[in-house]
Amino acid sequence: MPEVYNWQLGRPMYYPYQEQHPREQFAFVFNINRCIACQTCTMSCKSTWTFSKGQEYMWWNNVESKPYGGYPQAWDARLLELLDQAHQKAGREAVWDATRRDGARQPYGVFEGMTIFEAAHGAEQREEVALGYEPSDEEWSSPNIYEDTAVGQKGVPGVMAFQPVQLPEHLTWFFYLARLCNHCTYPACLAACPRQAIYKRPEDGIVLIDQERCRGYRKCVAQCPYKRPMFRTTTRVSEKCIACYPRIEGKDPITGGEPMETRCMTACVGKIRLQGLVKLNGDGSWAEDRRHPLYYLVKVEKVALPLYPQFGTEPNGYYIPPRWAPRPYLRQMFGPGVDEAIEKYRAPSRELLAVLQLFRTSQHIIYRYEIIEGQKVFETTINGKKWEMFNDTVVGYNKSGKEVVRVSVEEPTYIRPPIHSNSI
Ligand code: SF4
Ligand code: SF4
Ligand code: SF4
Repeated sequence: MPEVYNWQLGRPMYYPYQEQHPREQFAFVFNINRCIACQTCTMSCKSTWTFSKGQEYMWWNNVESKPYGGYPQAWDARLLELLDQAHQKAGREAVWDATRRDGARQPYGVFEGMTIFEAAHGAEQREEVALGYEPSDEEWSSPNIYEDTAVGQKGVPGVMAFQPVQLPEHLTWFFYLARLCNHCTYPACLAACPRQAIYKRPEDGIVLIDQERCRGYRKCVAQCPYKRPMFRTTTRVSEKCIACYPRIEGKDPITGGEPMETRCMTACVGKIRLQGLVKLNGDGSWAEDRRHPLYYLVKVEKVALPLYPQFGTEPNGYYIPPRWAPRPYLRQMFGPGVDEAIEKYRAPSRELLAVLQLFRTSQHIIYRYEIIEGQKVFETTINGKKWEMFNDTVVGYNKSGKEVVRVSVEEPTYIRPPIHSNSI
């Protein structure tokens, strides 16, 4: 039985293929606290890749309002329910042992439940590689259903709680979850495909569907836990996010041959997104790269967490959790690292505050940053502790080591000279 190591679960797990890793891995960090659901990302992907006949219902990037929204509808609730049934049947619990944290190989502890691969593998009548389901046409048809619908009282949609509240938790809450393919380390779509039409590129870990090999069996649609592959009726084959690979390869003239962030990343109005390529060791662990912004956010500061790590695909999209939502809900979605991540985000260290300024500042992929220390500009108390803010400047460099961004914590104020005061 092939076993692979999943560092997000802190343990080896069953996967139908032998372990093999790319040299670099496409990854991204989204700061949910800043997303305004403007859908600019969604439209930038749509207008670039899915504007043709047969693609009308496809949104390779989408932004949904949690907890009720989802594209396809209730994709995560439905899979969590299937997983729950599998655990009950096996007499097991989908729990984490967060006390067993141990360095980079077990940063969140150990997941003691079953992944979607293990749940399917252990089933008496094993039919599929991973636990999943194929959404109906209706479930795909309303990508932004329940937009801005809050949960306020005992899970009743739209009913608000009017009691005064303060952080750490709001009684009436929702948040926006921006999603695309996670270009997983152990993709369920790839494992599910009976035609071996799905592959993970050795140079950057991007997961693609070979349109020539695909025969439209839709196994990837059913078994991707994040529901990212989509079937196109006009061509009778499946399609999914391609990570805008021509941009990653530096083919877009804007960056002069340097790796460039994808369309949905560079379009982000709320500046919630930072995308990059992280170097991997031969065993799939992240090579130490202390001044790489994604390495810092995920591995050093641990402020950004994988989406539903318990599914077992080792997704490469990471999220800074929304600090006002109930912790049990967030722990289910992002694992046991939630409390630490939110505490770090509430009172950011000097370095974290500087690195957060890099989000959406350049179309170039940033490979390294440096911080130039500035003056103290603010002081307050957070959680009963003194917190100081410094006007540091963060400098970002592209793959060739060229400076591509320089931004300070405090935005500079420009005062317009009086000569223009009556000019409109
Ligand atoms: S998110 Fe889904 S489609 Fe994307 S790589 Fe992972 S399993 Fe495949
Ligand atoms: S990375 Fe490119 S293809 Fe993928 S969702 Fe974003 S814009 Fe679309
Ligand atoms: S563009 Fe950015 S802020 Fe707007 S919806 Fe997309 S992720 Fe959120």
